[in-house]
Amino acid sequence: MNGEYVGKEDAKVSVYDHGFLYGDGIFEGIRAYGGNLFRLHEHIRRLYDSAKAIMLQIPYTPEEMENIVADAVRKNALEDAYVRLVVSRGRGNLGLDPFTCKTPQVIVIAEQLSLFPKELYERGMEIVTVATRRNRSDILNPKLKSLNYLNNILIKIEASLAGVSEALTLNTEGYVAEGSGDNVFIVRDGELWTPPCYLGALEGITRHAVMDFAVDMGYVVHEQPFTRHDVYVADEVFLTGTAAELIPVVKVDGRTIGTGSPGFHTLRLLEAFSHHVRTDGVKVYPEHQVS
Ligand code: PMP
Repeated sequence: MNGEYVGKEDAKVSVYDHGFLYGDGIFEGIRAYGGNLFRLHEHIRRLYDSAKAIMLQIPYTPEEMENIVADAVRKNALEDAYVRLVVSRGRGNLGLDPFTCKTPQVIVIAEQLSLFPKELYERGMEIVTVATRRNRSDILNPKLKSLNYLNNILIKIEASLAGVSEALTLNTEGYVAEGSGDNVFIVRDGELWTPPCYLGALEGITRHAVMDFAVDMGYVVHEQPFTRHDVYVADEVFLTGTAAELIPVVKVDGRTIGTGSPGFHTLRLLEAFSHHVRTDGVKVYPEHQVS
């Protein structure tokens, strides 16, 4: 916290922190695989872009921030880790004005995480479309990874009430946007489709990575609007995200996708993903050979 290491129990923030009072702040979720911080530069870049958008001055350079993240993984002696990086506006008064907050809080949490049970990756997951629409880009841009996640939480509540782990969201025009915390891809005739982020999706780093290596593998990737109908008739569907990684979806709104099992291309991309996460990033232990 703000340059000091404190135990979990002693990590405390003020009730006057505007991150707590108003969700005024930004965050990143970053994973390390075998001591490799996957696409760390991209995460830090997105963090600083979000900071710029909300006029929050992070008291470190991006290079220093990368070192802080790597150091937190080392300090916890982790090889596989999930890192949560939070920069909140800091302590102010009870008014909204962010400029009453003089010092942002920088918090890095590094721990082990497995989000969904392993069987879900093997069997594939079921999702449903929820009634809550994803935030419009001209109101609170989903590209801005802010601490204001209530739109996502309302979406998640609907998914949980429907008895599934993730949701499919639409934008206010009815086009597919993303999940509550992941991006969405469909596969049709061996080609990949994912919605453009201006429709109302976070510019996911896993999404970018998958698009990059899919193109390298010879896939055609369309970044184009599509509707729920296209999802229902897709051969394969999968979600991507730092926490969720690349997870096959086999049922959407009661419609079985493809054969009802994780598809050929999804499994191929999942295999490529497992390779990339260990090579494409920043080494936490530079002297260490990752097998
Ligand atoms: N969409 C939302 C709303 C998210 O919060 C996240 C991150 N959990 C993603 C997509 C996936 O982004 P990334 O691949 O950068 O983790």
